[in-house]
Amino acid sequence: MQKSAMKAWWESSYMAGGNAAYIEEIYEAYLENPQDVEPQWRDIFDQLPRLEGVEIETNHSDVRELFKKMAQLGPLGRTSAPATANASDAKQVKVLQLINAYRFRGHEQANLDPLDLWKQERVRDLELSHHELTEQDFDSVFSVGSYAVGKETMPLGELFKSLNRTYCSSIGAEYMHITNTEQKRWLQQRIESVQAKPEFSRDSKISILKGLIAADGMEKYLGSKFPGAKRFSLEGGDALIPMLKSLISHAGVNGAKEVVIGMAHRGRLNVLVNVLGKNPSVLFDEFSGKHDESLSSGDVKYHAGYSSDFATPGGDLHLALAFNPSHLEIVNPVVIGSVRARLDRRQCNDGSTVLPITIHGDSAIAGQGVVQETFNMSQTRGFSVGGTVRIVINNQVGFTTSNKEDTRSTQYCTDIAKMVQAPIFHVNADDPEAVIFVTQLALDYRNKFKRDVMIDLVCYRRHGHNEADTPDATQPLMYKKIKKHPVPRELYAQQLLAENTISQHEIDKLIADYRSALDHGACVVEEWRPMTEHSVDWSPYIGQEWTVPYDASLSVEQIKELGNKVCSYPENVKLQARVAKLYQDRISMISGEKPLDWGCAEILAYASIVEQGSRIRFTGQDSGRGTFFHRHAVIHNQTDASTYMPLQHMSDKQGPIEIYDSVLSEEAVLAFEYGYATAEPGALTIWEAQFGDFANGAQVVIDQFLSSGEQKWGRLCGLTLLLPHGYEGQGPEHSSARLERFLQLCADHNMQVCVPSTPAQVYNMIRRQVVRPMRRPLIVMSPKSLLRHSLAVSSLEELAEGVFHNVIGEIDEIDAKQVKRVVMCSGKVYYDLLEQRRKDEQTDVAIIRIEQLYPFPHVDIEKALADYQHVKDWVWCQEEPQNQGAWYCMQHNFWASIPEGAKLTYAGREASASPAVGYISVHNQQQKTLVENALTINQGTK
Ligand code: AMP
Repeated sequence: MQKSAMKAWWESSYMAGGNAAYIEEIYEAYLENPQDVEPQWRDIFDQLPRLEGVEIETNHSDVRELFKKMAQLGPLGRTSAPATANASDAKQVKVLQLINAYRFRGHEQANLDPLDLWKQERVRDLELSHHELTEQDFDSVFSVGSYAVGKETMPLGELFKSLNRTYCSSIGAEYMHITNTEQKRWLQQRIESVQAKPEFSRDSKISILKGLIAADGMEKYLGSKFPGAKRFSLEGGDALIPMLKSLISHAGVNGAKEVVIGMAHRGRLNVLVNVLGKNPSVLFDEFSGKHDESLSSGDVKYHAGYSSDFATPGGDLHLALAFNPSHLEIVNPVVIGSVRARLDRRQCNDGSTVLPITIHGDSAIAGQGVVQETFNMSQTRGFSVGGTVRIVINNQVGFTTSNKEDTRSTQYCTDIAKMVQAPIFHVNADDPEAVIFVTQLALDYRNKFKRDVMIDLVCYRRHGHNEADTPDATQPLMYKKIKKHPVPRELYAQQLLAENTISQHEIDKLIADYRSALDHGACVVEEWRPMTEHSVDWSPYIGQEWTVPYDASLSVEQIKELGNKVCSYPENVKLQARVAKLYQDRISMISGEKPLDWGCAEILAYASIVEQGSRIRFTGQDSGRGTFFHRHAVIHNQTDASTYMPLQHMSDKQGPIEIYDSVLSEEAVLAFEYGYATAEPGALTIWEAQFGDFANGAQVVIDQFLSSGEQKWGRLCGLTLLLPHGYEGQGPEHSSARLERFLQLCADHNMQVCVPSTPAQVYNMIRRQVVRPMRRPLIVMSPKSLLRHSLAVSSLEELAEGVFHNVIGEIDEIDAKQVKRVVMCSGKVYYDLLEQRRKDEQTDVAIIRIEQLYPFPHVDIEKALADYQHVKDWVWCQEEPQNQGAWYCMQHNFWASIPEGAKLTYAGREASASPAVGYISVHNQQQKTLVENALTINQGTK
């Protein structure tokens, strides 16, 4: 807008008179987002007096102030206004902009790095001159707008000092990226009202000092007793100990009953002993090589979890530190899943009773994609837990890499948290009072707004990656500084001495007392309490083998009753035509008119489980409907798009069931479900992949938790994975769930790998997973085309049997004595073989299905094969290429199953780098050939 036009506008009635409130509102909207206002208003506001590069934060009182001043000023360029009034009013605007600049960018000049190595760029917005102010203005009094220091006006000098103290001392508060005004105001109120430096009582100070003494004392003790042994020392980040203790205590006061912590190896031993109260003598024994005999493989001590209770002024609460492997960051969704299970058990929807704390490394939080996945889940229906307190132990180096140009592309390692608009508090770990202040603030924010919050504990690493390392080889300057830098305990003790809070004698005594407690091997955590507050009993499941007897049978009448309930929905729920047909068909199946298909049997299994009072949690990318349009557990009302889940309306006494379409992630979601299932033995927890190969993205969870968590850490887990698998010509990506990878991980009866081939089998397999008191992962190669295969059907009586058959013998009337070849197989290929054999009216080949590949059912197979002991020609038939599927991993079991002297040959695709071909014609030819090879005696097999 030209100046003359602006002048004309200004002189118009809008700006001059009583429309100020209206304009304020538009201006507020403009400040939030200039694109939100009419272009005509945007042009005008673009020309209001303000400084380049400084955003004026949206704030009603600031705006009102601005407009009041402008209204007093009169029309722009009015020469009759007194020069002094003009000048000071213009300065008032600039003072508000200065405040705003500190809120936005103060953290960039804060004193955050204990080593003072950070190269901070000059931030001109924080300089008076940038706002056309000078020290000469220090005595002039200005309105401070919304600056929440408890005064309406302040001399500029005092304000400037206050802003520096609040935003540029030991805390760098980043919160202006939050768009929610209430949250921003709340944070400003909390930070500015105490100028980011509240008064601490003497008791609180001593308690902080004790935490630092413990942190330092523990590491020194281990260092001198076990020199050179790996302990991934916390030293440099000592403030973590008083920080965690204060956080837990504050959580207890605010109603938390359980706290679940996830952390990597750095500082873990210290946290175990100084926060969770693990007995130091047990740790020392571990250093000396003693170990828990009950675990088959066990794990290194710095991966260990621990559970205890902790006394807080609000009552005792339960603490759990999750076990976790070296794979950084992966434990975080596990912890959050565990918290969700505990919240569900407590019927707590707002996260108030269970607090997750996740502790990250600075390089890992910026580097690992699972962090983003976990943030993305944080506010979703299926995965939210009312916010997580996230702490970064930012020791400024990841293994041997500290150059920012190598570690990340963001300003701070915590920038990822901005994706959910979490407030981020950077804090200098050498100022423990600042650490405690932001910790309590972070928890209060989480509790009030139910959102994630981040604390960046800026510290250093006194030793190398481990204690045998020589870090100055790669970080010479950093370590020169570290060598001379006093430990946090010393610094804080000096501070307290200088303030006369404590005497040297008292300090020496505290240090000596801690050391003596370690010498006696006694628990060093005053708040430690024996465990009574945890909310679930695992003892019924401990030590149970997969052969433990169970009775999962329900009568046909009971199944019919369940079926009628699960096919009912209110009249006002209008089903989509195909879904209505599917529900109609289900009613016919339940009445016995039609044989049951897969979807119906699966739904009946869920119905029976919730009816018995157990919980079901089911997530996956398309779980409500089912990737292949077969499930429709969640129905979408065509009238108003509302949803209805018949499984939630079975009876008053039923167990809860939740089915969520998950975020489009595998790694974090599977880790979350693993966490859920390891915390909730009573529930059926299922994760379904859209296609089986999607599980590839979650391999770390499968390798490091699911398959080995029990052997490493004694943690049972009954999680079920449904992985659609089958060669139907969909190409390399949607054919294989990588059966071979699961089988290769099988040992010690660690998990079950099943390939059910009938609706009755899936019904009984799902029921078995809950009714049998064994909690081990169940990996299911689940079907795609079999969902609608005319032969893949079952009767109600087959469901009512209540047994999952690990092996299914020959079903056709074939005289065993005439059989010259036995073909063993699993999954969908069975039907290809059966159809071909029937078509050819062949009677000399028997076909046996192995429905559970692991644990291999030797006894059942022996029974199924008893009639074929005369047969010398045995075949394993599979759809997968030879280097994949069950052939290589299970061959020893197949050999063990066949009569002595018999030969075993392979019928399947040739070895291949890719799981499947991409061309349907080649696929069809391969499928035809492998079936022919399996059925044609004396030729074709390898
Ligand atoms: P937590 O609530 O995770 O601290 O667990 C409390 C106690 O329950 C542990 O000390 C274990 O004895 C037992 N426990 C918890 N989770 C499992 C699990 N997944 N498998 C076996 N025992 C468990």
